[in-house]
Amino acid sequence: MSSEPANLDWPVDLPWLATDWRLLRQRFNGQQAPPHALMLTGAPGSGRTATANHIAAWLLCQQAQEDAACGTCASCRMHQAGSHPDLLQVKLEEDANTIKVDQIRALIHALNLTAGFNGWRVAIIQAASSMTDSAANALLKTLEEPGDKTLLLLLADTRMSLPATIHSRCQQCLLQAPVREVALAWLQQHFADDEQVLAQALDMAYGAPLQAWSLLRQDHVATARSIAAGLQSLAAADTDTQSVLDQWQPWPAEQCWHWIQFWLHQWSRQCLADQHVDAAARQALLQLYDQAAESAQTVASGLRQDLQINAWLLRWQGMCASHAIMQRISP
Ligand SMILES: [Zn+2]
Repeated sequence: MSSEPANLDWPVDLPWLATDWRLLRQRFNGQQAPPHALMLTGAPGSGRTATANHIAAWLLCQQAQEDAACGTCASCRMHQAGSHPDLLQVKLEEDANTIKVDQIRALIHALNLTAGFNGWRVAIIQAASSMTDSAANALLKTLEEPGDKTLLLLLADTRMSLPATIHSRCQQCLLQAPVREVALAWLQQHFADDEQVLAQALDMAYGAPLQAWSLLRQDHVATARSIAAGLQSLAAADTDTQSVLDQWQPWPAEQCWHWIQFWLHQWSRQCLADQHVDAAARQALLQLYDQAAESAQTVASGLRQDLQINAWLLRWQGMCASHAIMQRISP
């Protein structure tokens, strides 16, 4: 849930990236040789995938305009259909945590084949920091000499999440999240929800607009609000843990843990800034956050998650009875 979805079904009007796009295009139109390896970094949801696709579409287009692909030529149509032979994608395979050396070898092999359309070949490596050491090593030579009119785009949260041998061979582009007003105005163009809901989605996405877009599309904002409501009812002793579990029953345990941690993180920040909350109460809140993070790790282990969540909720209830924290929290 924390990473940027890699599908192409995304809005392409991303006004806060206009400057980044223009500067990137200049690197290909300028006097100097165009880059052959480019690392796009930025927080999840800042628009890395959209930027990579934009650059790829523009380079592969058969009648590219100065600032964008034409959107109608054979190459653009294949790109839109996700079947362009000169656009190669490497990403985490389902249920995998790493990009394996075989995936990189297959990419290198494909890059050695002749380009079919306008001569350019583009490879996008999603979640590049997930490459195993041997996958990263296999890529080194290709990063240095990928061949004419070949561009490798590596996507990652931060430059430092990749080995120096990799990032030192790439040009860098750090995508900035937009200021809040710009992000909110953009969300308003896409969703009819009232501003409070959109603002909350943006908070939940830590300010990254595409992440907020994704949360709103998947109805995660409503889920998050229900999780908060359950925690608040327990804090006010209005309900019991079984009733809360029943209300949360529609959602997978992974989502429940995600939003429990999210709210505890938000509330801990509020308490840290509130001089009326004493140190023992802050400590108790942080301890519960850590316990939630630990319990969330058990999802894959096969332990019964209703029991895990119930045990945590009982601790939460006990903490709220001992420390009057929730009265200090603004909804
Ligand atoms: Zn085109």
